[in-house]
Amino acid sequence: MPRYGIAIDTTKCIGCHACKVACQNHNGLEYDQKFNTIYQVDRGKYPSFSKEFVPAQCNHCENAPCERVCPTGAIYTSPEGVVLVHRNRCVGCKYCIEACPYKVRLIDHHEGISVKCWFCIDLVRQGGEPACVTTCPTQVRIFGDLDDPDSRVSRFIAENRAQPLRPDLGTKPKIFYKRS
Ligand code: SF4
Ligand code: SF4
Repeated sequence: MPRYGIAIDTTKCIGCHACKVACQNHNGLEYDQKFNTIYQVDRGKYPSFSKEFVPAQCNHCENAPCERVCPTGAIYTSPEGVVLVHRNRCVGCKYCIEACPYKVRLIDHHEGISVKCWFCIDLVRQGGEPACVTTCPTQVRIFGDLDDPDSRVSRFIAENRAQPLRPDLGTKPKIFYKRS
């Protein structure tokens, strides 16, 4: 069984938000609800300055605080290492939203349950890739098996010494970044 993760190369991100929109479209989200956020980091001052765009989404933490605090057992990790929600068990109490240090969860407007990125596991199980991965015009994300040392994602992480966001939190995220 693979253990899925994503490598993100921020040096390629142009901040176009295509990944965010593709994700909203695939998940039927309203325009003001999103699973992907593109943060902008400004460095320096005119005339010597630079911008970095940092796409962020659920990290599918191996040690997931959201899963631990859920009082109904609605949050679980799939055999492929993807953190998912039993939609019929979620009561919308928002404990998981408070517990997530990355602030990537939200309450769905229609169903009143907690939702977030799910690595488009519906597409992945049919041999595809998450919508954010395939839509990006500059191929910022690489999706694949973190346990296979020869996968593109594993090689990219090793070659670029890519790191997760806030590893000090101890949640063991499965999204790794090459930062500019
Ligand atoms: Fe849960 Fe947040 Fe980690 Fe995603 S990033 S698995 S929502 S704690
Ligand atoms: Fe960045 Fe790609 Fe998302 Fe555009 S689609 S914002 S380039 S990650």
